[in-house]
Amino acid sequence: MADFSVQDLSSSQTQSSLQASPQVVLKVSSIDKSVNKKAYKTQNNCVICNVNFAKGGPVSVQKHTCRFCYQAVCSSCSPLTAIHPSTNNLERICIPCYTRYLKEEIERENEAEKQGVISREVELRKSLNSEKMKLEEELDKVRNEQMGLKSQVLTLSSELECLNHQKINVQTSENKNDSSVPISDLLEKLREQEMENARLQKEVQTLKTSSNSRPSSSACEHCSVQ
Ligand SMILES: [Zn+2]
Ligand SMILES: [Zn+2]
Repeated sequence: MADFSVQDLSSSQTQSSLQASPQVVLKVSSIDKSVNKKAYKTQNNCVICNVNFAKGGPVSVQKHTCRFCYQAVCSSCSPLTAIHPSTNNLERICIPCYTRYLKEEIERENEAEKQGVISREVELRKSLNSEKMKLEEELDKVRNEQMGLKSQVLTLSSELECLNHQKINVQTSENKNDSSVPISDLLEKLREQEMENARLQKEVQTLKTSSNSRPSSSACEHCSVQ
């Protein structure tokens, strides 16, 4: 908040001798357009304290004019200055005008500050919204990737299941082959075959033996012919 200084204008100071205060002073943005700029001309008393400006009276009081309301005022009722919107210089201001314009300027400042806060908030919301949209896009991407990965996992799972089925089928068919010709049966058949072979060999041996025992060089026993 601006520090509005109070400049003491003693009765000895004239309007032309008003000096700019080194400190921050009230700067009036605009004055009331409907103000009567000739009002002070016909006024012989201060409009605030009613002191008479008539010369030759018991107390001689100098007549001043408030440059913001153009009313006739005494120095006691206009001890301050403010920057005038028309001249951009420090001009005499009466206490009611000072109070009024100070209040207006404070309200204007507050309003500007409020508007600043609002526009900053609007900007902040905009940037937050854009950030939110970006994040939602990212989230969508991640979700899509996740869906893709899930579908890949499902495909791989079904392929794995298929391979497992194939493996089980192979094992089952191997088991079936084993059970269709059991080893014990094969051994039995082999043994039977061997026994048959042995029998046949024995028979051949017997035949050979009987053929050898027959007298080969002697004459036929019936006809004695060799
Ligand atoms: Zn006065
Ligand atoms: Zn005034």
